[in-house]
Amino acid sequence: MGDTLFAKIIRREIPADIVYEDEDVLAFRDIHPQAPVHVLFIPRQPIATLNDAAPGDAVLLGKLLLAAADYAKREGFAEGGYRTVINCNEHGGQTVFHLHVHLLAGRPMLWPPG
Ligand code: 5GP
Repeated sequence: MGDTLFAKIIRREIPADIVYEDEDVLAFRDIHPQAPVHVLFIPRQPIATLNDAAPGDAVLLGKLLLAAADYAKREGFAEGGYRTVINCNEHGGQTVFHLHVHLLAGRPMLWPPG
């Protein structure tokens, strides 16, 4: 439990282009970007999926979203807009089972996302 690809990135066992970190959150560029900006925000604490988040994780989940919004503001694309996505399990398209928020920006997004 917890020893995913992203746990290895947290432990610096595999490289990643880290753009933000604090005591609870790490953010790094997605290796297969789906937009000009594609950053993943992950908790240091391993939570496999959104289904596994407990009431005690509420503050941590909020920190992930606020870290994404702060990054968008710092990088200057908050006003233009962006998308945040959490994929959950097979039908959600989740492939790495360490909860993460995708931040996508730099182009207009389509809806529905498919
Ligand atoms: P998911 O499909 O689970 O929502 O998102 C997993 C994301 O992790 C994908 O967008 C994928 O491109 C990204 N990813 C997979 N392996 C690596 C890696 O080794 N490094 C980085 N930076 N991103 C990865």
